[in-house]
Amino acid sequence: MQTRAAVIYAPREPIRIEELELDEPRAGEVLVKMRAVGLCHSDYHVVAGNRPVGMMPMALGHEGAGIVERVGEGVTRIKPGDHVVLMFIPSCGVCQWCRAGQSYAWAQQINLAKGPQRDGTYRLRNRAGQNVGQFCMLGAFSEYVVAHQDSICVIEKNVSLDVACLVGCGVAGGFGAAVHRAKVTPGSSVLVIGLGGVGMNIVQGARASSAATIIAADRFDQKLAWAKQFGATHTINVEREDVVAKTLEITNGAGVNFAFEAISTPQTIAQAFAATAKLGTIVVVGLTPQAETQIPISPLQLVLMQKTLTGTLYGASNPQIEIPRLLNLYKLGLLKLDELVTQTYALDEINLGYADMLAGKNIRGVITFDA
Ligand SMILES: [Zn+2]
Ligand SMILES: [Zn+2]
Repeated sequence: MQTRAAVIYAPREPIRIEELELDEPRAGEVLVKMRAVGLCHSDYHVVAGNRPVGMMPMALGHEGAGIVERVGEGVTRIKPGDHVVLMFIPSCGVCQWCRAGQSYAWAQQINLAKGPQRDGTYRLRNRAGQNVGQFCMLGAFSEYVVAHQDSICVIEKNVSLDVACLVGCGVAGGFGAAVHRAKVTPGSSVLVIGLGGVGMNIVQGARASSAATIIAADRFDQKLAWAKQFGATHTINVEREDVVAKTLEITNGAGVNFAFEAISTPQTIAQAFAATAKLGTIVVVGLTPQAETQIPISPLQLVLMQKTLTGTLYGASNPQIEIPRLLNLYKLGLLKLDELVTQTYALDEINLGYADMLAGKNIRGVITFDA
């Protein structure tokens, strides 16, 4: 069958929208008609050349939701008509990490940016007959996606797919960074640097954890105003104020108990480190360009202040469990999703969507497909 999809042919080139040939789902695989896909920064890292991938051309997109059209042989827990959210790390269920309830640490993580499915074969081809890879083994910016059932989470039908897609990456990643990785405690103080589709959900996770002080930092005033709606108690515009000095001022010189870095640069990681109190935890959430190899922090302070510096993927959550759980919080009014979607785009507008992201115009832009 045919599908229109967003494909990158070389770093620093515009994303192309192309008609591709898509194979039928094989054994253990699922064909999904996509409904909505978030413009996550991780796809853009590939476009910018900051995130090397195993091959080009590569179909981008990983924060998606849709409706199952057909299933391949041997698929028993997913059926046509099911509403689903795609998972950018599969839950294989059998590797040592999945068996320990830590599928965010999937044993074959190295395969995520390679291009082919796990068995080394491809599902997409372009007009020239070239194989086209699937970023995160998904390639979700596409009318139709064939993915392994391990990458599919079935959800209830009473949630709009237009917002459910966000739970597949940014919401799970941000909320979980606060709740599962840092384990933010009631009454504590929190700093979040970077208020995109992940950072805003760290703010939500901190609020859900009853943090008393939630400091949100970004260079766009609009994002700071939005952060207040998501639970921030203080904001810092980093263009006008020093984030470390201001954070120390807000916390009476102590620093915060938990600092999150969602930009990601070595410099902002160092700021998060410096703004953290004794015994504090620093969580790095964003993907720093692969060329960066050092963080300018004081090893002496790491010891004397007894800090913990850690990283997290997928919010240290098991997405098969976490995605339905987050959607329940949304239905209870305890998690904001609608407000995260600040603009929707057609597939053909994907380069505009990413330009808007870079210009700080969106919390999350979302590509929507006609129902
Ligand atoms: Zn993402
Ligand atoms: Zn596994």
